[in-house]
Amino acid sequence: MHMYIGGEWTDRDDKISVINPFNNSIVDTVPSATTDDVELAINSAVSGAKDIATLSGYERYQILRKAADLLEERTEDFARTITLEEGKVISEGRLEVSRAVQTMTLSAEESKRIHGEMVPLDGAPGWSGQLGFTLRVPCGVVTAISPFNFPLNLVCHKVGPALAAGNSVIIKPATDTPLSALKLTEILLEAGVPTGAIQCITGSGSSIGDPLVADSRVRKVTFTGSRDIGERICKTAGLKKVTMELGSNAPLIVMPDADIDKVVKATVSSGFSNAGQVCISAQRIITHEKVYGDYLDALSSEVELINTGDPLDESVKMGPMVRSQDAERVNGWIKEAVNAGARTVVGGEYSGAVHQATVVADVNPDMRISCEELFGPAVAVTRSAGIDEAIKMANDSNYGLSAGIFTQDIDWAMKFAREVESGNLMINSGPQYRADLMPYGGLKESGMGKEGPRYAVEEMTELKMVVYHP
Ligand code: NAP
Repeated sequence: MHMYIGGEWTDRDDKISVINPFNNSIVDTVPSATTDDVELAINSAVSGAKDIATLSGYERYQILRKAADLLEERTEDFARTITLEEGKVISEGRLEVSRAVQTMTLSAEESKRIHGEMVPLDGAPGWSGQLGFTLRVPCGVVTAISPFNFPLNLVCHKVGPALAAGNSVIIKPATDTPLSALKLTEILLEAGVPTGAIQCITGSGSSIGDPLVADSRVRKVTFTGSRDIGERICKTAGLKKVTMELGSNAPLIVMPDADIDKVVKATVSSGFSNAGQVCISAQRIITHEKVYGDYLDALSSEVELINTGDPLDESVKMGPMVRSQDAERVNGWIKEAVNAGARTVVGGEYSGAVHQATVVADVNPDMRISCEELFGPAVAVTRSAGIDEAIKMANDSNYGLSAGIFTQDIDWAMKFAREVESGNLMINSGPQYRADLMPYGGLKESGMGKEGPRYAVEEMTELKMVVYHP
């Protein structure tokens, strides 16, 4: 496919191959953009921002509504593209498309609700008679940088609200998975987004990332990806608004009164979907000592059933990781934990990019498989003595994106909600839960700012204060 910059589908001699991680075949190629291409994209986005700002909220609603409908009509094509470039099983590809349809629909609705508020200036001593109100206006040009693991829905979470708010947007998709974003760009143009208000530039973040982020004409950067790249972007962006959706090593606390069957189901879906490559994957399973053995036995039986293979095969439950180096890294961390005293209860092997679903027990919290972001198909099970110790362990992390607890005790559940340092808190669910309309974002080094169209629109607009002095 070609990239879309400066109002044209553009090719370059220098190409990047998009690889199917299951069998290493080339799915397609995309151009490798240069810094000149970044300049072209930003120039075009500056004039695109003026064009889209002239559209009414209702016109933006109509465009985004149509985009959602087109996306839904092409569900199977998008699901297949996601699976081919990213490696998640086809049922998860379809689920991602249906979520993306929701994200675009919610964004369309938000186009109609962008408003300021009256400010009661007479509440300030000595002031009366003035009329104060805020106007909510677009930022202008938004740079949207997305990760590989949800190549469609996480792009929609940036592009939908940016356009709903009347901004132009430059998408920089992950180099491993650019095809879904390019196809989404086709749909947005077909739905009527003004040329210039959308750019989709393909190329390595290490070569085109800095100018996309640093340019002072870009007024907002929205980034989803790893902690370290996020920190670099914050430093490079300078004086502009930023939203950071970063990594995590999400904990799941299992209390002694938990329904073990439910916990096992939640661990499997929260820990192993997309081969564990989800920012809110259950990674650290902090299990009360009274149920530790029963939980491990029940979990092992279920995890053994997770078969791996070609993600396009409907009978396969887990596909490859995005790259073979990642499977190798995950395996290295597992071996390191085992050498330090942990034990592999299920799985533990890999071939190419395919890593078996793995349960590692007796994990010490300072092992890398527990204290760093694993981002792979393994869970690390650790024993705890009670709620205080479990919460302390959950908080013993530089991250704070999502956490779960299983208990029937309302006091434990509320203590968890109050004391666990996390942006998302799930009671009787694994941490991997996200409804696309909810405010979603991390605490601590998991980031800043919120996504979810209603909340992202606030992050992608500026407030102007107007005072009428009669
Ligand atoms: P990544 O390596 O940080 O890459 C994310 C994006 O940043 C890619 O588009 C990448 O481009 C780009 N990039 C790389 N270097 C850059 C630079 N110097 N300047 C600007 N952009 C640059 O992350 P990933 O491996 O794709 O995704 C996995 C990470 O994302 C995990 O840490 C996961 O937890 C996190 N994540 C967080 C959320 C959330 O909502 N909090 C959701 C999903 C994923 P290239 O591909 O060209 O390198």
